[in-house]
Amino acid sequence: MDKEETFKTSGKTILVSACLLGLPTRYDGKAKRSQDVLDYLQREKLTPIPVCPEQLAGMTTPRDKTFFQSGDGRAVLAGNGEAVSENGRSMNAIFCRGAKMTLEIARLSGCRRALLKEGSPSCGVHRVYLGEDKVAGVGVTSALLMNSDLEVISEEDLK
Ligand code: SF4
Repeated sequence: MDKEETFKTSGKTILVSACLLGLPTRYDGKAKRSQDVLDYLQREKLTPIPVCPEQLAGMTTPRDKTFFQSGDGRAVLAGNGEAVSENGRSMNAIFCRGAKMTLEIARLSGCRRALLKEGSPSCGVHRVYLGEDKVAGVGVTSALLMNSDLEVISEEDLK
């Protein structure tokens, strides 16, 4: 496929965290299906493009839990934050890879909006985990999508 070519889609599309749609993509092998999300998609007549940045990056499911040791997703992209697995391994490179793959799917499908899972180190929109504390911040994928001028909301914005 030519680099500038996109798929033809009918109707309005939106990237959606796969776990919110009921796919068992989370680090613990579970889903986080949200009826609010499904109702919103139906109400707004949106076609969801399911994405899981961590699976797109090639990570296994289940996988180690990841949290920020310093900064958030914006800081990781800027080279001054650190996302680590529960075993202390740096996850910066693989999380950036997942973010880039997700952005490429947005480009291919013509998506300018994303509805992502709050609190995740990839998908968080308003909050992430810094160690065991929930703090204001964004995940790595959300940060890259925002930097690319996509509108990014979480399931909590639907309430
Ligand atoms: S990376 Fe995002 S889509 Fe994948 S399981 Fe985590 S929150 Fe869900």
